Amino acid sequence: MVAKVLSCKYFPSSDTFDPQLGSTPSFAWRGIFFALQRLRLGFHWRIGMDSNVKMHVDRWGGSILMQLNSSYTDSSDAHVLCGEFMLPHSTQWNVNLVQRVFSVADVARILQCPMAPVACDRIVWSGHLKRVIPTTPDPIWLILSRLLVPPKIKLFGWRLGHDALPTASRLVQAGLSVGICCMCADGLKTIKHAFCECTMVVGLLSLAGFISLVTTATSSRAWLLSSFQQLPLHRFSLYLIILWNIWHQRNTFWHEGRLIPDWNLVQTCFSMFEGFIALESFSSATTMPELSISDRWHKPEATTVTINVDSACLPSNGCSTVGLLAGDHQGIVIAANVVPVEVP
Ligand SMILES: [Zn+2]
Repeated sequence: MVAKVLSCKYFPSSDTFDPQLGSTPSFAWRGIFFALQRLRLGFHWRIGMDSNVKMHVDRWGGSILMQLNSSYTDSSDAHVLCGEFMLPHSTQWNVNLVQRVFSVADVARILQCPMAPVACDRIVWSGHLKRVIPTTPDPIWLILSRLLVPPKIKLFGWRLGHDALPTASRLVQAGLSVGICCMCADGLKTIKHAFCECTMVVGLLSLAGFISLVTTATSSRAWLLSSFQQLPLHRFSLYLIILWNIWHQRNTFWHEGRLIPDWNLVQTCFSMFEGFIALESFSSATTMPELSISDRWHKPEATTVTINVDSACLPSNGCSTVGLLAGDHQGIVIAANVVPVEVP
């Protein structure tokens, strides 16, 4: 829904790669807008027949990005389009026209650029044929890839190591918080405070046996890396699970005003860790039987209607409802309903 709202407001008649910042952009949109400026540098238009791509403005090419040597005059009112140098409704360049307009080096490049045999242009990732591998992999990713934790906790670890969690100190920059820790009401809630210094966290870490890891590291990245060096892999995996649960505890307290006792939270962390280890051991020891063609999923017949059902119960008043969602064989929703349920 957020994507639809933003697209209606900021690029109603274009696409994500051609947005407008607007006169009074929100903080969220400003962040997305500037990220898009960086993101679009990694993409280009793969041209098709009668292409509408602006030849001297847009990034374009075939499978790889076209880079012209010379600069050419363009009009801001009526941009030169790639399609103007193609034979109509074909995948051929107009060789005579290309040779008349472009320099010798650019003629060779353009004529070697293939166009897709479709009547539309398509955005593609420019680096997919380059097989770009960073020469110095992110050490945070290297650590996370080895951990014995669920994927959602690895993702949390990445955000933690890159100072990308919405702590109160970060929300201050967006004008969404006064910056004070919601749990101890004492101190600016930075990552260091939230996971190391907060009085509501120190006891929990001590109970789980990690108090010695409270560190003087100046950045969350350095803190995570030094913690990894101090602990065996299993212990660090458990440590990250505890940090994830601390973060979850903070959100629960902020949104619902509930606090889970430390002993209960520590027990939950150990259970998560042991459960994941057991599941991993089971998965690696068990080989899944090969599915035959007939066992595999097939698209439903055209007359099929699928119905998904779910229910919810509000503990405060015991009110229960059942929701139904009906879809056709393409997965398109064709009907929905919510039905209150009388509970005896
Ligand atoms: Zn605190």
